[in-house]
Amino acid sequence: MYFNDQTIAFLDGRWIKAKDATTGLYAQTLHYGNGVFEGIRAYDTPAGPHIFEAGAHFKRLRYSADKMHIRMHYTEEELTDLAYQLLAQNGLTDAYIRPLVFTGPNMSLTPPEASHLFMCAWRWGKLLGDNLVHVATSSFCRPHPKSCFIDAKVVGHYTNSILATTEAKRNGFDEALLLDANGYVSEGPGANFFVERNGILYTPPLGNILPGITRRNVLEICQQVGIQVRQQHFLPEDVYGADGAFFVGTAAEVTGLASLDGKKFRRAWKNTFGAAIQGMYKARVLQEETREAFI
Ligand code: PMP
Repeated sequence: MYFNDQTIAFLDGRWIKAKDATTGLYAQTLHYGNGVFEGIRAYDTPAGPHIFEAGAHFKRLRYSADKMHIRMHYTEEELTDLAYQLLAQNGLTDAYIRPLVFTGPNMSLTPPEASHLFMCAWRWGKLLGDNLVHVATSSFCRPHPKSCFIDAKVVGHYTNSILATTEAKRNGFDEALLLDANGYVSEGPGANFFVERNGILYTPPLGNILPGITRRNVLEICQQVGIQVRQQHFLPEDVYGADGAFFVGTAAEVTGLASLDGKKFRRAWKNTFGAAIQGMYKARVLQEETREAFI
């Protein structure tokens, strides 16, 4: 699914067949999770393939690497250029792009000298599918901002996400919603969260969440079209029986929720802010914004 015999990937300055890519087994990333990555989407726009927010994603990759004391040998411009080359090499237009900066061998708990860049791409539908999702509040809370850099995209942080999604699916739900250590709603395992109540959108403030690039775009869209948004803490109980709710993220795009903990949202999805924003976000990534935004 991620690659076939023809797929080309980038590894440490070389274009290679993905099937031939190899790495050592002593990397600190493999043993202790100290690596950083990004999830980026390219869209087939009227002007050709366009990598949405490439600059912001590669800036965050650099930020994540800096926080984890991992060296980055490429500038944001070089990385953007490589990502476009990657699409061209694989004949991809609509694609999910995954850069991973992983480390060299080091079994002690100090930053390793060496770091490596791997970048690959594949066609990927919406992370959570095209239907509304049934979500469960997780028994796992998000990592505490005092135990790690919650605003960095670090490989090891995603063990928390895997536990939360697996628990939700085992209990018959589609996805999890995680709380922060204080019991307030924070985000999904791989997406930020918004809820609509009485004509206002609410989303958790920065601090206990990954500051999503999609979240920022959604806030900009809301400002453009006059949807009021409050960035404030709230509880799962405040979400129950609300008008609507949705996840936002590069992989998830804008995905509506059917229910939280079995409690359905009041409005039909098509009558919520979420549905309108879903359309406007799609127009934005396809660079058709000016035509679509004011319909
Ligand atoms: N939160 C988490 C934990 C994530 O993994 C992601 C995906 N990167 C997001 C939120 C959404 O971030 P973005 O919109 O930048 O993809």
